[in-house]
Order: sequence, then C-alpha cells, then structure tokens
Amino acid sequence: MVASGKSLDRPERNRLKLAELDGDVRLAVAAAIDECGSLGIKLLITEAYRSPQRQDALYALGRSQPGAVVTQARAGSSWHQFRRAADVVIVRDGELRWEDDGYTVVGAVGKRCGLVWGGDWGWDQYHLEESAAHPISWYRGRYGLAKAAPDELLQR
Ligand SMILES: [Zn+2]
Repeated sequence: MVASGKSLDRPERNRLKLAELDGDVRLAVAAAIDECGSLGIKLLITEAYRSPQRQDALYALGRSQPGAVVTQARAGSSWHQFRRAADVVIVRDGELRWEDDGYTVVGAVGKRCGLVWGGDWGWDQYHLEESAAHPISWYRGRYGLAKAAPDELLQR
C-alpha cells in the first residue's frame, strides 16, 4: 500500500496502472476518474493487476500471517487477477483519504461508467470492477487458474 500521497505523481501512476487493465475496463475506469475529477474528486489508482502470488500473500494477512484481513479472495477469485478491477483512493490536498464522503460519488460515477462498485458490498469502497463480460470461470481458464479457485470462494 502506498504510504503518502505527497510523493506520488498521480497522473503518471494512474497512467501506468490503467495500462495494466483490459482495454474495455481501462476505458471505463479512465472515464470514471475523469468524471470524478470534473466533480472535484481526485482519484489515485492504488492497485489494478494483481498476480496470483500477490493475491495469496494478501489473503494470508490476518489469517496465517500477522496483520488485518484485507481481502476475502484467494488467487483466482479476484477480478484483479484478470485485469478487470482497480482500487482507487481519494486524494485531497495531497493526502490520501481512506475515509471520505466522496466515495459514494465514486460509486455512482463508476456505475454510470458500467462498473461494479465494491461499496455496494458494504466493505470495499475503493474497488471498481467490470465483471459482466464473461463469467469468472472463463477468465480462470484463460489465465491458467481453473484449478486454483473453488467456486465457493468466489469473492472480490
Ligand atoms: Zn479491489
């Protein structure tokens, strides 16, 4: 996780992170960032693509490893593995705002752009995904993760 917004070049980081996403998702997330920006809400992408190894390392936090639980998804169960999800944080006055009333606007704008907003699940207000093009099993096959993720673990 990034520690501070002050040292971050937001447009450059967003450009690099957007490049990790599938083309249709990249356009939708970029549109959401632009529209939020026009409403005075600056967004920084903290994560886009996650390798299966990174997803499993995150899943271990708060379980087999010290720390707080940060995800409900093992490798192969997150849309981040399939380049179809991005996590964003609001930046105000150079500070990352993990708590901010603006996330409801992020959700509304994201949905207008065709994305699913994790805030609707009650716990992941930073998360935007496109998960309607194909079932996740299609992506698991494409990425060689078909055996990695039992369906009952399907989470973000
Ligand atoms: Zn996410």
